Amino acid sequence: MPINYRSNEEIEKIRQANHIVVAAHKRLEEILRPGISTKELDREAEIVIRDLGGRPSFKGYRGFPNTLCVAVNDQVVHGIPNKTVLKDGDIVGLDLGVEIKGYFGDAAQTLPVGEITEEARTLLRITQEALYKGIEQAVLGGRLSDISHAVQKHAESNGFSVVTAFVGHGIGTKPHEDPQIPNFGSPGRGPVIQRGMVLAIEPMVNVGGAEVQVMGDNWTVRTSDGELSAHFEHSIAIMEDGYSILSEF
Ligand code: MG
Repeated sequence: MPINYRSNEEIEKIRQANHIVVAAHKRLEEILRPGISTKELDREAEIVIRDLGGRPSFKGYRGFPNTLCVAVNDQVVHGIPNKTVLKDGDIVGLDLGVEIKGYFGDAAQTLPVGEITEEARTLLRITQEALYKGIEQAVLGGRLSDISHAVQKHAESNGFSVVTAFVGHGIGTKPHEDPQIPNFGSPGRGPVIQRGMVLAIEPMVNVGGAEVQVMGDNWTVRTSDGELSAHFEHSIAIMEDGYSILSEF
């Protein structure tokens, strides 16, 4: 499919969807604590989204059953919320999407539960930094793989690996649109970054190897070596004067 280049009016609608995404994330930050289940987090996120007039866009997407994708510790992405109670020292990836009036938003973060190890803290910091390093490359006239390269370089220069099996994506009137945005690769390739592009950039970074596997529920992705993984995502738009983060917290 061709890349969609959005008008400023459309970008504002995508921003509105992302504002609801951010409101749900803020609520999750407030209530996250040791002893809460991922199912409870899911329920709260859905309430916030519906109260603000949105629709949880992951729910029902390709049969996914919930509002929130969760990923605890060695899980990477796409976990289904359940009765699992989070414990002190866990890290939990929270990914959610919203549709309002036909436009979509999408953002993810990985949060500490109580006191986490130094290694986990570093992983969260480097993954979030990798996201921003990627975003900084989203400059007019640049190339899409400049983003990919910056993400990979930051993760690997800090001793971590990037997941290659899943990628970022365009977003707008569908939850996933072209172009695909890998978190790895050489710079200077792919489409030219132009006004009107709306991109969901989402590094997944592992402490150990890059290999991942899908679990028996056919959704949850985990690291093959059982080491920790983190995930951060923003939706951004390319405007006349450069990028704008639509899902800024
Ligand atoms: Mg996404």
